[in-house]
Amino acid sequence: MGAVRIYEVSLRDGLQNEAGVVSTEHKAELARRLVDAGFKDVEFGSFVSPRYVPQMADTDELFQLLPKDRGVRWWALVPNSRGLDRSLDAGVSHIATFMSASETHNLKNVNRTVRESLAGLRKVIATARAEENRVRSYISTVYGCPYEGDVDPQKTVDLALALLDAGADEIALGDTTGVGTPLQVQDVIGRLVDAGVPLDRIACHFHDTQGTAVANAFAAWQAGIRQFDGSLGGIGGCPYAPGATGNAATEDLLHTFAAMGEDTGIDLDATCEAGVFIEEVLGKRLPGRFLQFYKADCERRGCLVPGEDAAKSSRTA
Ligand code: MG
Repeated sequence: MGAVRIYEVSLRDGLQNEAGVVSTEHKAELARRLVDAGFKDVEFGSFVSPRYVPQMADTDELFQLLPKDRGVRWWALVPNSRGLDRSLDAGVSHIATFMSASETHNLKNVNRTVRESLAGLRKVIATARAEENRVRSYISTVYGCPYEGDVDPQKTVDLALALLDAGADEIALGDTTGVGTPLQVQDVIGRLVDAGVPLDRIACHFHDTQGTAVANAFAAWQAGIRQFDGSLGGIGGCPYAPGATGNAATEDLLHTFAAMGEDTGIDLDATCEAGVFIEEVLGKRLPGRFLQFYKADCERRGCLVPGEDAAKSSRTA
């Protein structure tokens, strides 16, 4: 097992769920801070319809501003072939697709049945691979659905095998509403492994809605998973999943893995400073526990939180 890989989603999953639209300049500044902190996998935007998700309307423009010479894999979310065309036109080479293990959630989220989504994504993935893109495929509501309740783990296994067969490089298991619990996480991972899915092609995307994000990440780590999604300060949620708030906070994951001796290659202080920056840009306190601890600790020691000044100067610039 290699080192832990953190896949940062605040620029997409986080900002997409904010009521306001963050400026392209602020997004680019946040991206630069993530690069400087050592992140190698960043989901920076989404090629969904700007009519439905105006927060992501500048994804093409933002991509042009991102540093391409720092060894960062810049991932964009692509909903369908139209989104893939835009992504390829922009020059993006890492895409993420999404669909749900729950029929009702999938219908509410993308207005397609699971079968229709899979058929559409097979084409998207094949085209993306032919264009030498890397493909990550999210499966949502793996541990439960806000509409249907329990989701049969076999549905996740079947979808994961189908998406890998279609050419996906990795599968990201999404706990869309944060209902998953540690033993359930281990059960699903065990079933995937039994079905022949290699551990290094599975990533985990947790939500802290019910306070289980870090416990779930630890359970997944014990089961052999080394790829985890995090979002600065726990920003984000899902607009089509009632009650879903708070992605797993990147700072909480980094702190926990560092304490376990796991090397992520990412600087925790610099990550917290990026978290402070985005709090300043959004003008609100984020839920991430370690981020709030970091700020209180800085204040107690009388030191300046470096992100704060930079956010102010960048805001007035
Ligand atoms: Mg999320």
